[in-house]
Amino acid sequence: MDLNAYLLVWVCVFGLCFGSFYNVVILRSLSGESIVFPPSKCPKCNNKLHWWHNIPILSYIFLRGKCYFCKEPISIQYPIVEFITMVLFGFSFWKFGISYQTLFVIIWLSLLLIMTGTDLKENLVDCNLAITMGISGLLCSFLSGGWQGLTSSVLGLIVGVIIFETISRIGKLIAKTDVMGEADTYVAGAIGAAFGVYNLPIILLLGLFAYALIFVPVFLYDKYKAADYATLVTSILFIISIILCSTVLNNYYGIGLLFISAVLFIHCMFKGIDKKTQRRLPYVPAFSVGVLLFLIFFITQGLNIYDNSILSDTIQKLLHI
Ligand SMILES: [Zn+2]
Repeated sequence: MDLNAYLLVWVCVFGLCFGSFYNVVILRSLSGESIVFPPSKCPKCNNKLHWWHNIPILSYIFLRGKCYFCKEPISIQYPIVEFITMVLFGFSFWKFGISYQTLFVIIWLSLLLIMTGTDLKENLVDCNLAITMGISGLLCSFLSGGWQGLTSSVLGLIVGVIIFETISRIGKLIAKTDVMGEADTYVAGAIGAAFGVYNLPIILLLGLFAYALIFVPVFLYDKYKAADYATLVTSILFIISIILCSTVLNNYYGIGLLFISAVLFIHCMFKGIDKKTQRRLPYVPAFSVGVLLFLIFFITQGLNIYDNSILSDTIQKLLHI
């Protein structure tokens, strides 16, 4: 077995163990408990778990998804988070090899995974996790690109924060209530710091794309049930103009149509939020998917934070569709 394959196996095993730990972080950061001190126990019967109840994924299979003592079903969240963490660790090592960048990418993907977990579970995100990602992003950029890298990183942070603070404030003005969580701005800034100002727009667009794919069907169904036909009609108009713009109307008319329908749709959507017909849509999971898609499809070697070649390639490809 060659060295890289051997190390990859160990990185995956580490991923499984860390995944176990992230489960605890996701649960206890919401309940405010200490992450380290109380030993793991069943939330129902409070029995302390044996070491062999805590083996990532395997224990879930052996115990057939139930507590050993009281047979209370164990949340499927445990094996899922463990498995995803293993894949993320393995992917980072496979992509960046033996380098400090692997370590940083593992840290960022881990933080995004934990924030995604708490956002999906309770609509809550710990801003400190985003701040940690932002600071490590600045450090990694400086290590890989010197002052040029740090500049791109700082600009990415500022642009990320400005974009989301602006959307959030305009949304609040229209909806008369918070349309985003406070943490969304932090996370956008952290991604800007980690990947630099040139890569930020690509990641945000990929995130938006993922967001649309996952949430549009749910969203439309909610609107239909709530009889909010204005939002329903403008959202369908928006989707039609995206299709037109990417096919037959691939010109300034198409872009104009897209812009007008987007403004109408966003306006209706923000206005609809105070009707309490839906919970606030989680953005952090979409950001995280955006980061992952970016790493998979746009990074060939190295993180490339400080030059704009990926961005200009992407724009050229889009214009040639
Ligand atoms: Zn139990």
